[in-house]
Amino acid sequence: MAQLSDDCFAFGGKLLPVDELEAIIRARVAPVSETETVPLTQAHGRVVAHDIAAPIDLPPFDNSAVDGYAVRHADLKADGETRLKVTGRLQAGSAALQPLAPGEAMRIFTGAPMPQGADTVFMQEDTRVEGDVVILPPGLKPGANRRQAGEDTRAGAIALPAGRILTARHVALAAGLGLTQIAVRRKIRVAVFSTGNEVIEPGSARGGAAIFDANRFLLAGLIAESGAQASDLGILRDEPVALAAALKEAASGHDLIVTSGGVSTGEADYVRDAVEKVGSLVFWRVAIKPGRPVAMGVIPGVGGRAAFVGLPGNPVAVYVTFARVVRPLMLRLAGAEPQPLMPLPVRAAFSYKKKKDRREYVRVSLRRADDGSLEVVKYPQDGAGVITSLTETDGLVELPEELTRVEPGTMVGFLPYGVIGR
Ligand code: AMP
Ligand code: MG
Repeated sequence: MAQLSDDCFAFGGKLLPVDELEAIIRARVAPVSETETVPLTQAHGRVVAHDIAAPIDLPPFDNSAVDGYAVRHADLKADGETRLKVTGRLQAGSAALQPLAPGEAMRIFTGAPMPQGADTVFMQEDTRVEGDVVILPPGLKPGANRRQAGEDTRAGAIALPAGRILTARHVALAAGLGLTQIAVRRKIRVAVFSTGNEVIEPGSARGGAAIFDANRFLLAGLIAESGAQASDLGILRDEPVALAAALKEAASGHDLIVTSGGVSTGEADYVRDAVEKVGSLVFWRVAIKPGRPVAMGVIPGVGGRAAFVGLPGNPVAVYVTFARVVRPLMLRLAGAEPQPLMPLPVRAAFSYKKKKDRREYVRVSLRRADDGSLEVVKYPQDGAGVITSLTETDGLVELPEELTRVEPGTMVGFLPYGVIGR
């Protein structure tokens, strides 16, 4: 029988496919449960805690969509011009004092309530006026240019479902419904560390072998953009005892700890061991490039457990694994609706070879081809450490597991940076 050590399969194990990873997150992670109520002015970026029903019809009353003349459609001649006496003037903000009598029209402006009895509005551009009479052409459909009460949303309908992330658009709807505050889930708290003896704080004196920390700034920004509260916990040296202690401490008061660096199998890659010392590790190799080594785990702290994600050290790998690991995990913890990344089909203007059975991300720029259609060009430098490949491009092309080559003209899936994090 072979003599096997505990970790002999450390490199031989199966790589975890990206989709399986996202399914594990959905199945095994529960959202934070605490909620709070915030005024609309602070609701942007927050996650709706409970379904919110519209308290009123929107719009609240039938009103005119144009500047023109409100009429009863039954008064109109089908085969020729109709002449109606104009008996009133309705500006936005003022309601008619009396109903529209048969055979009459009322001057009306956009947003003014429809007078009782009127069902149709002529645009002023389509009419002529002679004294107090308006002359209307034939052919307008009943109900034209009238906005019905509740056509936007009905009182009682769910306007903002639980889990919706509130953007300016959603806050506008809440405001339009007259709401002043919204119950949201509390923000998740995310601790961010960089690791590596070579990594130093920007601005500090740099020795010959040191590099300035880019990843903490990348992650802090991406996390804040995702609506979470990021705690910047600095740079950790490649020292197992110090790493374990820092992770243990961060587990109290945070829902998630994200580190970069130190998760490969190099001699100084201690993050995995440190997590195993103070918590448990779920898996650490994902079928994704760049970014294959990704550690996930759970670390107990005071008052609960923190999820842990250890990303690789190269900045491009950090960005890609953020998109596919940290982002779905954060959305789930925050109680947000799933937001699957949906690559848009674009034409590749490059050749590329890849291995089967792993998902690969290529940094690309969008450009307009001679025929006016969009195509993407690959950034010339592939290295996972090339930070300018992230700043000089528009997004990522996502190449699925089964694909092995891209030729010019191949349709590929494009993820603009904006959908992941800018
Ligand atoms: P590691 O995963 O720790 O082996 O790191 C892989 C590469 O990423 C090495 O070249 C590191 O120097 C680099 N790296 C690690 N952490 C950072 C960081 N915070 N900012 C920029 N580069 C980093
Ligand atoms: Mg390192």
